[in-house]
Amino acid sequence: MSDHYEVLGVARDASDSDIKKAYRKLARELHPDVNPDDSAADRFKLVTHAYDVLSDPEQRRNYDMGGGQSGMGGFGFNNMSDIFDTFFGGGGQRGPRSRQERGSDALLRVDVDLVDVIFGDTRDVEVDTAVLCDTCEGSCCAPGVSVHTCDVCGGYGQVQRTVRSLLGNVVTSAPCGSCRGYGTVIPSPCPSCAGHGRVRARKVVTVTVPKGIDNGMRVQMTGMGEVGEAGGPNGDLFVEFQVTPDEVFARDRDDLFATIDVDMVDAVKGTTVTLEALDGPVELTIKPGIQAGEVITVPGRGVGHLRGNGRGDVKFGVQVVTPTKLSAKESAILEQFAALRPPVAPRFATHKQGLFTKLRDRLFG
Ligand SMILES: [Zn+2]
Ligand SMILES: [Zn+2]
Repeated sequence: MSDHYEVLGVARDASDSDIKKAYRKLARELHPDVNPDDSAADRFKLVTHAYDVLSDPEQRRNYDMGGGQSGMGGFGFNNMSDIFDTFFGGGGQRGPRSRQERGSDALLRVDVDLVDVIFGDTRDVEVDTAVLCDTCEGSCCAPGVSVHTCDVCGGYGQVQRTVRSLLGNVVTSAPCGSCRGYGTVIPSPCPSCAGHGRVRARKVVTVTVPKGIDNGMRVQMTGMGEVGEAGGPNGDLFVEFQVTPDEVFARDRDDLFATIDVDMVDAVKGTTVTLEALDGPVELTIKPGIQAGEVITVPGRGVGHLRGNGRGDVKFGVQVVTPTKLSAKESAILEQFAALRPPVAPRFATHKQGLFTKLRDRLFG
C-alpha cells in the first residue's frame, strides 16, 4: 500500500494548499488526456486517490491515525469520478456521431396448422414496419439538397469550452447544440419522411415454417426487421410460431396420436381399414381380438424432425365401441352366442393389465 504523502511528494505536515499544488502538478503530467501511457493512468489513479483522501480534513485525520488503510477499494475511490468531472469535464465520445442507427427488431406471431409442421411450409405474412424512404433514400434531405457541414462545430460534432478550475484553464468538449452532435446539418428535411430517412409501411414477408417447429419456438430472420434512422442497417425479424391444435391428432414432440373407434364386431373378427391422416391415407390392420387401449404404431408418419431427416411416428389408440341398440334378431343371436360361452363375470384387472397403465406404457414407454 503506497503512502498518500509519498504519492503526492509532500511532507506529512504539508498544508492544504501544498497538497493541492502538488496534485495539480502531477495531474497535469499524468492525466490520460495528456499522457496516453498505461502506467501514467495507473499513477494518475493513485495520485487522485491520495488527493481525494488528503484534501478532506476528516479523511486525512483518519488516515494519519492509521485508519483508511483498506486500500484502493475504499470510499476515496467513489469520489474519483466526481473529481474527474470537476477538473476535466464529462469525458465522453469524440467526433461527430452518425445519423444512422440500427433499426429495431420486430416480433411477428404466426399461427400454423399441425399439417404445416409435418413437412414445413412457407407463409406470406403482412407486417407493419419501417422501410427506407423512397424520396430521399435515407439521406433525410429534401430532393435537390444535401447535408452540409455544421458551421458551429466545423463538422466535429463537439464544441470545446474552456473552464477555469483548480488546475487552471481546462478545455472540455460537449456535443454541438447546433447539429446535435452530428457534425452536419440538414438544410431542408425530406418532406416524405420528415427527415428520418424512413417511413412506416406494410410489407409482405415470406416466412419459412420449419418442419418440426413447436409452440413458442422462434425463428430469427436476420435483417428483416425495421430499417434504421437515416437508412441505418435493418433490425432482425423474429417469428414466433403457434401451432393450432388439431381436432383429431394430438402431438407429443414429433409423434402424433389419434384415437380410433373400433366396433365390437371388428375388434373380435379383425379388419383392415384405410383412414385419411393429416398427410394422406394410412392403412391400418386391426388384428382379431384387439383390446381397448391397444396402440397401433405406424412408423415414420409423424412430424418431421426439426434437426436432421426423418419423422416421428403416428400412434393410434384403439377404443372399442359397444353397440347400444340391437334389433330383436341381433339380441336373439347374442343370447345364443352367450349361451355357447362359459360366463365371465366382471372383475378387477391388476395394475399391470389395466387399460390406463397399458395406454401410458404403450404411448409413452
Ligand atoms: Zn425521405
Ligand atoms: Zn455542429
